[in-house]
Amino acid sequence: MTGWLAIAGLGPGSDHLVTPEVTAILAEATDVVGYIPYVARVAPRKGLTLHPSDNRVELDRARAALEMAAAGRKVVVVSSGDPGVFAMASAVFEALEGRPDWQALDTRVLPGITAMLAAAAAAGAPLGHDFCCINLSDNLKPWAMIETRLRHAAKADFAMAFYNPRSASRPEGFTKALEVLREECGPDRLITFARAVSTPEEALLTVTLGEATPEMADMRTVVIVGNSATRRVGRFVYSPRSAG
Ligand code: SAH
Repeated sequence: MTGWLAIAGLGPGSDHLVTPEVTAILAEATDVVGYIPYVARVAPRKGLTLHPSDNRVELDRARAALEMAAAGRKVVVVSSGDPGVFAMASAVFEALEGRPDWQALDTRVLPGITAMLAAAAAAGAPLGHDFCCINLSDNLKPWAMIETRLRHAAKADFAMAFYNPRSASRPEGFTKALEVLREECGPDRLITFARAVSTPEEALLTVTLGEATPEMADMRTVVIVGNSATRRVGRFVYSPRSAG
């Protein structure tokens, strides 16, 4: 049996937002590897082995998946959203470094709808002009780098999307991020908290930076800060196509 490896994005939560390409590859798989809640989104069936694992061992998980593919299994590594956005695709390529045998495997990345795009659509069009995207977790990079990027993005008047804004283990980071944003953007800038987008728990809240509190975000929230022209229209928030 010739094995292969697919690294697939399951989208933000709703089954309707899984691409047909990803649904088709899951139907062909013999093994699905990923973080426990993402693997739980794959329906069990005969001939399919599920390998849920803890999120802190991404590189080990990538190596285990590659080993299975090299042994002839048809392996799908699943991430939420898009696998290339703060997710498993980079871990798999890191595992390929120095391994020509693994580099020769049939390996594909299948895109998914990333959280910020689902959140932006639910809110209106806050990312309708230039924007950037920053992971606020300091697990894999120093806080000083996050703060520098935040300040530069704000000074350049990008709209900004923030992943991993706040967790129980590091509640103070997002408090600092809000302070930096208030300094750079002022209190009237719009900020949207989009939680569990496309799931039954979906909740959207748009306030000003002056009104924002750290508790408005958790690990299931993606946060979008508008640029200086971002405004409300009815119940929506949008960034105009033209600026400056
Ligand atoms: N690969 C994923 C991101 C993984 S990082 C993607 O492309 O979406 C995990 C972070 O993504 C969470 O902390 C949160 O900020 C965001 N996120 C994932 N799913 C979400 C959803 N349904 N609603 C809001 N934010 C979500």
